[in-house]
Amino acid sequence: MILEPFDYYAPSSLDEMFDIVGSVGENFKFLAGGQSLIPMLKMNLIKVSTIIDLKKIPELSFIREEDGQWIRIGALVKYVEISDSNLIKKHLPILSFAAKKIAHQLVRNRGTIGGSIAFGHPAADLCVISMLLDAEMEIVSKGSSRYVSANKFFLGPLTTNLKQDEILKSIRFKIPEGNYGWSFNKVSLSHGDFPLLITATMIRRNRNIIEDIKIALGGVADTVVRAKEIEEFLKGKEITEENINKASKLASSIYNPSSTLEFTSNYIKKLIEVYLRRSIKEAYTMARE
Ligand SMILES: Cc1cc2nc3c(=O)[nH]c(=O)nc-3n(C[C@H](O)[C@H](O)[C@H](O)COP(=O)(O)OP(=O)(O)OC[C@H]3O[C@@H](n4cnc5c(N)ncnc54)[C@H](O)[C@@H]3O)c2cc1C
Repeated sequence: MILEPFDYYAPSSLDEMFDIVGSVGENFKFLAGGQSLIPMLKMNLIKVSTIIDLKKIPELSFIREEDGQWIRIGALVKYVEISDSNLIKKHLPILSFAAKKIAHQLVRNRGTIGGSIAFGHPAADLCVISMLLDAEMEIVSKGSSRYVSANKFFLGPLTTNLKQDEILKSIRFKIPEGNYGWSFNKVSLSHGDFPLLITATMIRRNRNIIEDIKIALGGVADTVVRAKEIEEFLKGKEITEENINKASKLASSIYNPSSTLEFTSNYIKKLIEVYLRRSIKEAYTMARE
């Protein structure tokens, strides 16, 4: 398919970008890495009269540590830059790992963290990680800004808290305190395909007791989710085969993923059980006392 014609702007600052936003009417889209937007335009799934390309805006491309407590990542930072960043490897290793596992190299060279989160796919790798790490989205419009936490940001399939005239400027992650073990697994039909299911777990332990646990899942509901019921069930408990089995069965009973062309909902529910069990065990094993 070929693209329908549209007006194209490539502003070099946020101020210039907001002037353009104010002048082109409602029917525009921001362009980041183009790895979701361009295919959707080519397939005629959406139509726009204007594209505003973000790539020349330097305020959106940075990774930095703030106050020794946060890692802030500009929306335009690419997956490959996230997986290569020493700062992220040191403080948020699960994010580095997940970014390295997205699709294949061509997508990772172009796709951006802001594009992925603004797109809001219910099985997108970095949407799951943002939910797991309680990320905060910095959203700006002309003359104002606000923060929205990940658990309030994703509203439905490909639907987020962003308004038409707002841009996701950066994402900030609190650096986890203490020694967390982690695990990130996904199921895809074949290598490089969008995941069918993602399980992401972080555990802090005290001897053989789970002191703290975070679990996020992708592909099990209309948005990425935090599995709060499972976290509550396991927190403070001894790690035993019985408790892990109960927790993963509970997850499988709570979520009702839609069937796909290839798999029934019941099959995906079984996958949730199997993969969550593995995820909890891996995170627990990695966690140091
Ligand atoms: C072959 C292939 C395989 C893929 N596999 C995976 C996978 O396994 N896992 C995965 O997570 N993803 C996968 N993707 C999707 C990929 O991660 C996209 O890069 C991502 O969904 C969008 O990021 P982008 O930077 O390309 O954004 P774009 O495609 O440029 O934009 C996506 C949407 O977000 C909006 N947008 C972009 N940036 C902003 C911003 N800063 N503020 C507000 N709105 C914004 C755009 O207007 C658009 O609506 C795959 C894509 C392809 C082509």
